[in-house]
Amino acid sequence: MQVVRSRAELRAALVALPRPIGLVPTMGWLHAGHTSLIEEARADNRTVVATIFVNPKQFGESSDFEQYTRNEARDAELLAAAGVDLLFAPPVEEVYPPGFDTTVHVGAIALPLEGAARPGHFDGVATVVAILFALVGAERAYFGLKDYQQVKVIERMALDLALPTTVVALPTVREQDGLALSSRNARLTPEARAAAPVLRKALLAARAAWAGGTRTANQLRDVMWETIAAERLAAIDYVSVADAETLAEIEVVHRPALLLLAVRFEGVRLIDNERLG
Ligand code: AMP
Repeated sequence: MQVVRSRAELRAALVALPRPIGLVPTMGWLHAGHTSLIEEARADNRTVVATIFVNPKQFGESSDFEQYTRNEARDAELLAAAGVDLLFAPPVEEVYPPGFDTTVHVGAIALPLEGAARPGHFDGVATVVAILFALVGAERAYFGLKDYQQVKVIERMALDLALPTTVVALPTVREQDGLALSSRNARLTPEARAAAPVLRKALLAARAAWAGGTRTANQLRDVMWETIAAERLAAIDYVSVADAETLAEIEVVHRPALLLLAVRFEGVRLIDNERLG
């Protein structure tokens, strides 16, 4: 696996690599969720390019950015073993050169949920993903549905800006107890780790209510709220039942919908979701 750090080195390395190219953007501290994206990219393309970049523009609180777990040596080994051909791991000034002054702002789909809880977050995501798409020029790029709204934001951007990279969205990889894999899980204390599967439990309880015929969104919200509230270490950020396409809150589930949760465990903020229909 070749490792490059500058825009120029990346461009030069890409010339020699066979197409199609699959791109897997990450912020590092890799886990089986990331490697599932790489495996899919490997299967669909002749070249796989991964990126590791902890994007300062998508973090509201600088402490969250600084605390983000980093270990490039460990990640590079994992990526090489997973069959990545080229790793782009740039410093901040290669992604945002001096004088950088452009923001990609996606509209309505970026407003609720994570957009409301983390002002500026999706501007940062859309901006960095647009840069990575432009730099790599991949045929396909792979993202996880754990970050469902992120997928919707990137799909909107790619469509609106006529970007030639196809967005591929893949299912959430979980621990045995149902907790979605996340780089943030490393920051959970043993007590918080033991409490965190309540997210999945709440989603499955609401899904069971829906499967049993409940269509009133507030009843589904109550099921999730009560399940999580029973866990002492869980502090709810939001509980949502939203339209799967617009992510607007709904009153009645009569089209594909999404259950979405954001919950803090001793300050570590975790998200998860489940599709209905
Ligand atoms: P991150 O490094 O957290 O920015 O994530 C990089 C990519 O991996 C994003 O597209 C995420 O949605 C995806 N991802 C993160 N966690 C998981 C997971 N548990 N299952 C599948 N994909 C994931």
